[in-house]
Amino acid sequence: MTDVMIIGAGTAGMTAAIYAARAGLKTLVLDKGFYGGQINSAADIENYPGIGRISGVDFSQQLYEQAQALGAGFLFEPAERLEVQSGVFSVYTPNGIHTCRAVIAAPGAQRRKLGCPGEDRLTGRGVSYCATCDGAFFRGKTVAVAGGGNTALEDALFLSNICSCVYLIHRRREFRAEKYLQDAVRQNSSIIPVLDSCVAEISGEERVRAVSVENRQDGTRQELAVDGIFVAVGLEPDTSLFAPLDVLDQNGYFTAGEDCRTGVPGLFAAGDARRKPLRQLITAAADGAVAAAQAAEYLRK
Ligand code: NAP
Repeated sequence: MTDVMIIGAGTAGMTAAIYAARAGLKTLVLDKGFYGGQINSAADIENYPGIGRISGVDFSQQLYEQAQALGAGFLFEPAERLEVQSGVFSVYTPNGIHTCRAVIAAPGAQRRKLGCPGEDRLTGRGVSYCATCDGAFFRGKTVAVAGGGNTALEDALFLSNICSCVYLIHRRREFRAEKYLQDAVRQNSSIIPVLDSCVAEISGEERVRAVSVENRQDGTRQELAVDGIFVAVGLEPDTSLFAPLDVLDQNGYFTAGEDCRTGVPGLFAAGDARRKPLRQLITAAADGAVAAAQAAEYLRK
C-alpha cells in the first residue's frame, strides 16, 4: 500500500510529491494525462521567485525530474472513483485499484467554455483554449480573444506578435487583469478592445470565419470576420471525482483552508481547485508543500 497518493501532476501535485518523498513517504502521483497541467500552456514564467524567466514546459519538466529523482512514482491513468473505508483510500482506475493511507487532491482546473452556438462544433477548427499552443497556426491572420482576466490579456499580447489583428472581447468596460497587462494592451496598436460585449455566436462551415458580438448596453450585434477565437474566460475546477465525499463548495472548489485539510481525515486539497484568493504558480507550489507536510503529520499520528 502507498503512504500517499497524489491525484494530479500539476505544479501543486508535483510539489507535494517532492515534499512527501523527502519526508520519507512512499509516494505515487496519478494523472489522467501528462505531467505539468496548466503551466504547460504558459509561454514564459517571469513571476516565480528566484527564476528570472523560464518556459512553462521547461518548468514542469524540471519539477517532474526533481520529484522522480527524490523517489516519487508516477502513473498516467484516470482516477474514476475514490472510496475511503477505515482510514484506507481506494482509487479506482481502468487498470485496477490503488490503495493508500492518505490522498492529496491536486486536480487543478480547466478552461471554462463560453457556451455559445458554434463553440463546440468549431473547437480545434479555429476555436482554441490555448494561445501558446495554437497561436502559431494563425500567423498573419485576424483572431479574437474572449475574456478580461490575466490570461486573456496575456493571450492577446502573445497573439499580437503573430497575428495581424487581435480583437479583445470582454463583457465589461473594465478589465480584471493586472494593471501592467492593461497598460501593455492599451499601447499595442494590433489589439482592438471590444468592451461591454459578449460573444453571441461563432460561425463558419469548416473553420471559424466570424464571431457575432452583442453589446450588453444597447443589445446591438456586430459581426467580426476572424480566422480564430481564443477563449480565456476563466477556470472551472476538475473535482467531480471528489463530489461524493462532500468536500466541495457550490462552485466545485475544495473548501479546505490554508492547512489544505478537507473534512475527510487523510484527504488534503492543494492548488487551483482549492478555494483561495490568488491562483498562481507560487500559491499552487505552496499548497503542495503544506498538503504534503500535513499528510506526513496525519500519517505519523
Ligand atoms: P479570471 O481571472 O477568472 O478571468 C476570467 C475573465 O473571463 C474575467 O474577465 C471574466 O469577466 C470573464 N468571464 C468569465 N466568464 C465569462 C463568460 N461566461 N463570458 C464572458 N466572459 C467571461 O481567469 P484567468 O484569466 O483564466 O485567470 C485565472 C487565474 O490565474 C487568476 O487568478 C489569474 O490571476 C491567474 N493568472 C495569473 C497570471 C499571471 O500572473 N501572469 C497569468 C494567467 C492567469 P469579469 O471580469 O466580468 O468577471
